Amino acid sequence: MTVTSTRGNGMAFPEDLRDWQHELRVQFPIITAHPELAYLDSAATAQKPQAVLDAVHTYLTTSNANAGRGTYTWANRTTELVERTRDRVKEFLSDPAPERSGVHFTSGTTEGLRTIARDWLTSYLTDGDEIVVPVADHEANIAPWLETQRLLAAQGTHVRVLRMPYQAGSHDYDHVALAQLAGPRTRFVAATHVHHVYGGNMNVHRIRQAVGPDAVICLDAAQSVGHLPVSTADLDVDFVVFSGHKALALPGTGAVWARQARGPALAPGGWNGTPNTTGIVSLGTALDWLQAAGIDRIERWTTALAARLTDGLRHLDPYEILGCELSLAAGSPVQQRQGIVTFRHRDIASGDLGFILFSHGFMVRSDNHCQGSAGEKTGSVRVSLHVYNTPEEIDRLVAVLASLR
Ligand code: PMP
Repeated sequence: MTVTSTRGNGMAFPEDLRDWQHELRVQFPIITAHPELAYLDSAATAQKPQAVLDAVHTYLTTSNANAGRGTYTWANRTTELVERTRDRVKEFLSDPAPERSGVHFTSGTTEGLRTIARDWLTSYLTDGDEIVVPVADHEANIAPWLETQRLLAAQGTHVRVLRMPYQAGSHDYDHVALAQLAGPRTRFVAATHVHHVYGGNMNVHRIRQAVGPDAVICLDAAQSVGHLPVSTADLDVDFVVFSGHKALALPGTGAVWARQARGPALAPGGWNGTPNTTGIVSLGTALDWLQAAGIDRIERWTTALAARLTDGLRHLDPYEILGCELSLAAGSPVQQRQGIVTFRHRDIASGDLGFILFSHGFMVRSDNHCQGSAGEKTGSVRVSLHVYNTPEEIDRLVAVLASLR
């Protein structure tokens, strides 16, 4: 039986996950070492469980070597670990045809998206093609595509940029408007799975129907991998790009998954040099850890914490919560916040609010969150959650926010 407690908004808190969560939380040394602090900035980068730290230590003390080169045991072992992580990424993304896809390791989502733009998109587009750019999403998912347009224009190839349409109320993509906008020359669509400011799931599975079978869809999954199931089969996308470091792996890690069914494959582009072997080892272990913890449970936990915070905040007069107004009343997947809640205080600037919150032990992100030019015009404070966060932290935060009237 699922035991839940209901709060004012009708959303139920998953009490049945309390023991499960406690067992996972204690595996994060930096979290348990600082009970007076609350880390609420996981959308920027996540903390690492002991298993990831151990895997890195073991690797460096037993088999550190270069990958794909030597013929001795350590080198072979390193090559094996890199290849295993590649397979692990495919499996984690529910790749329906792993023999026909590729995984390219990067330092994070920014580098992944840039790599696609530079190493693939420039040779894929021809004069008169159109690309769809999500102008209110993260700058990392805007700048590379505009740069490609400029680069190609300098060579005489003119590509039209179509601005991704958004729904006014929910900040979800407007899939109906997108279908009207997209034509036979729309060959590339950049999209984001979970919005890094509003926390909404952007219903990416509807894009394929809107743009047709031939357009290449590139997904920025920086805020979804490690938080909710990301299935390349269900979403019907061609590229998935994510940050390993936001999914519990070491800083400087990320990956591009590329389906090779449409257009040319994202070729490794010749000589890549020495890979970030330690980071790759940490990524494989982090994905194992997340899978064992249960992605569905992580999603239930972090969305429930986000709902708890939204519920606490919306009764406090000086605060404005960004994103969908209806989010809690309806409780549909469109309107849930995936572990990200962003807000403003009427009278306190977001940078100051960030300082005040840290003086109470809360680590949050303030200001403009690298949103593109069509995004928010004034700063805000973002609280972003992962499996180690607790309802007690949220309640303490709400109490402090309430005291700042
Ligand atoms: N896209 C989104 C949606 C993000 O939230 C972020 C990180 N804030 C990025 C891209 C950039 O990721 P990274 O720092 O790993 O390059």
